Amino acid sequence: MSITSDQKLLRLIKYLPITIIGLFVVVLVVIVLSANRTALKEDIAALHKNFYQNQREDIQHRITNVVEQIEFEKENTEKILKQDIKSRVDEAISIANNIYAQNQHLDETVITEMITDALRNVRFNQGRGYFFIYKLDGTNVMHPILPHVEGKSLWDLQDARGAYVIRDTSKLARTKIKAFHRWWWVKPGATDQEFDKIGYVSLFKPFNWFIGTGEYVVDVENDIQSRLLERLSDYSYGEGGYIFVMNSKGALLSHPNKSLIGVERLDAQDGAGAYYVKNIVDKALSGGGFVQYQSSFTPVGTLTPDKLSYVSHLPGWDWIIGTGIYTENIDRFLAEREESIQQKNSEEILKIIFFSLVVSLVLAALSLFIGNAVGHRFLRLQRQIKHDFHELEETKNKLQYLALHDSLTELPNRLFLIEFIRKQIKKSEQSNQHLAIMFVDLDDFKKVNDAFGHATGDQLLAKIGAKFETLLGHDDIVARFGGDEFVFCFSNLSNAREAEHKGSEIYKIFQEEFMISGKIISSSCSVGVSIYPQDASEAEELISKADTALYTSKARKKGHILFYDESINQQVQYELSLEKELRSALKRDELYMLYQPQIDLNNGQLEGVEALIRWKNPTLGHVSPVELIRKAEEIGLIHEIGQFVIERSCQQIIDHYPNGQDSIALSINVSPSQLVAKNFIHNLVTVVDKYAIDRERITVEITENVLINDLEVVTPILKQLRECQFAISLDDFGTGFSSLSYLCNLPITEIKIDRSFVDKLLVSKQSDALVKAIIAIGDSHSLKVVAEGIESLDQYKKLNQYQCNLGQGYYFSKPIPIDELVNFRNDRTLESS
Ligand code: C2E
Ligand code: MG
Ligand code: MG
Repeated sequence: MSITSDQKLLRLIKYLPITIIGLFVVVLVVIVLSANRTALKEDIAALHKNFYQNQREDIQHRITNVVEQIEFEKENTEKILKQDIKSRVDEAISIANNIYAQNQHLDETVITEMITDALRNVRFNQGRGYFFIYKLDGTNVMHPILPHVEGKSLWDLQDARGAYVIRDTSKLARTKIKAFHRWWWVKPGATDQEFDKIGYVSLFKPFNWFIGTGEYVVDVENDIQSRLLERLSDYSYGEGGYIFVMNSKGALLSHPNKSLIGVERLDAQDGAGAYYVKNIVDKALSGGGFVQYQSSFTPVGTLTPDKLSYVSHLPGWDWIIGTGIYTENIDRFLAEREESIQQKNSEEILKIIFFSLVVSLVLAALSLFIGNAVGHRFLRLQRQIKHDFHELEETKNKLQYLALHDSLTELPNRLFLIEFIRKQIKKSEQSNQHLAIMFVDLDDFKKVNDAFGHATGDQLLAKIGAKFETLLGHDDIVARFGGDEFVFCFSNLSNAREAEHKGSEIYKIFQEEFMISGKIISSSCSVGVSIYPQDASEAEELISKADTALYTSKARKKGHILFYDESINQQVQYELSLEKELRSALKRDELYMLYQPQIDLNNGQLEGVEALIRWKNPTLGHVSPVELIRKAEEIGLIHEIGQFVIERSCQQIIDHYPNGQDSIALSINVSPSQLVAKNFIHNLVTVVDKYAIDRERITVEITENVLINDLEVVTPILKQLRECQFAISLDDFGTGFSSLSYLCNLPITEIKIDRSFVDKLLVSKQSDALVKAIIAIGDSHSLKVVAEGIESLDQYKKLNQYQCNLGQGYYFSKPIPIDELVNFRNDRTLESS
């Protein structure tokens, strides 16, 4: 992930929760506010509705109550009236009785006068009420209102509807003593209208009178109405609430505005032009209900006349009772309520917002804290990861470097080299240039290790590696291929000559000695070269061919540069098949022995034989023993083959020439590594003893080179051989660099003059002198001297003349099988005899 996206992620971790909380709180507040507003609206609407409803119910209820009360009072009118008149009449009877009781002794007329005087002026019910007295026969005794009827019989008096009022009343008094009676009477002054009248009579027994009184129901009702109207005009409730009463003609009977009372106002119009009084009347008459209008009267504190009234009709009295509410008051009240609700609501909202704010701030702070903590952790982890990655990268690079470099010289290794060559091949292909792969091997590096120790050897390698690097151009490389092997890859070469120049520069490095830890070490190298594109077009093949050239160069002569060509390849191929075939030669019984006679030059007799190995292979044909031995040494087969030589030659010699007078000597060639092998003497002794050959008959032939290379190691071995009574011959004498002092110090018993000197003995004075000198030295050191390669009689004679002891060569015999040797000896014996 890139740095910017990391930073974005961090910012996201830090601020997203806060944003979410903020958004959440905002959304929550919006939802709460909107829900609240809706609830508030609903509340206010409900308040309006309920309040109006309540108000309507209230005024309706009030009117219903008032109407009920009026109805009640109306119903009680008769009852009250009856009670009243009864009590009045009872009182009059008691007065009459009292008067009579106190004045019994007096004349009836006097008593009558006393009673009538007492009752005549008694008035009640606002002066309307009076007593009348009749005799049971219908004669009026007293009538304060109509005095002219006193003394007259009203027995036949009929009421407005034809009923005999006095007759019926008298009858009731006579029969029931006390009784109510009803009749219809025209009121004094009002001739055209009859009124219900209730009367009460009670019998005054002493004189068979009935005393009574009567009252118009309507008058009582009027009283009650007046009382009620008075009471209703005082009725007030709430804020300016009052009850009005009007009749069906629109005249107000009760109203706070007294000036309006009694005026018929059916034609009255309100501010909106409505006949509101008529509307009220109509509504009341049609069963009652609510009416809305603009009132002509507005109580103190009320500004607008809009009013809603409930009206009800009281049919018996023609009363329309109503009361109303001024909508302005309601609206004002509602507005106040609304305001208070809204204020309360605003306070609640403020509380919610405050609480949300506090909660969101706390949550935001918390999330910021957590975000920061996560961010820090994230950064720490990121730094840790970066650090770990860096370390990993470094380790990887290190490992890559180690995988591609040699730790000792710090030069590229084999893998690096191959990859590099591949790249250079591609480049060279495009640029048409040459590449030179130079395989360099230090000569005898093992000896440096052995002589100075591995640490010094390592330092030498590092130093050489560093010097090699100085030879590199821009596109060149030198790699340590392994051990003491280095491989150069020189690029951009135009021709093979440039490669030769590079090779010579490599050799120049070895012209100077190396100074390591105070030791002066000289070294040399062999170089094998392959060239791209002529030798190969693949990296591995180029290296392999350079290696082949190097191998061949080493095999031929160390310290040289050799360019790969096809003959080298063939030789290598031959070497490879030589090795392959040799490994199975013993098993396939391809090896056998020939024996070359060694002749006593003095008497021409067979003295001994030199055992020479032969190898006939189906593929390679006859392989030279020199090649065979070299290869055997090279591949470590020399010990087995050497053992075969000893075993086979001992066996054949003892078979054909047993110990004794006629026995012959046996010379066995022993290669340098065979000689220094741990068990060589032990094995030799074992075989020789096994065949019970006299040890003195056996001569071990060693070459000069053995002495030069490993004198310290070889000397004790030679001494041991001598102790075992084996003779020791120094083969190919004169070809090496052996000093004559060897001959004195080493336990050698014989020297063999190399074939090359015998060959030139007759033609080169130098050779002649050398052969003579060798024979002289041998003689002086009591060593047998054997001349090799005698091919002519003259050579034989000359050597004989120089008193060389023994000779071998084609002049006498080529190496021959053991069977032929017998004949050879016989022939020689015959010849000399
Ligand atoms: P060498 O030990 O010096 O053997 C003598 C070589 O000279 C033999 O070659 C022999 O055939 C050759 N020779 C003798 N007389 C004449 C002559 O008049 N003219 C010419 N042109 N050559 C003559 P060969 O058998 O090919 O052996 C070559 C070398 O191989 C030997 O040289 C010896 O160093 C080595 N060799 C042979 N057989 C053995 C063996 O069994 N063991 C070991 N370690 N080396 C052996
Ligand atoms: Mg020999
Ligand atoms: Mg020899």
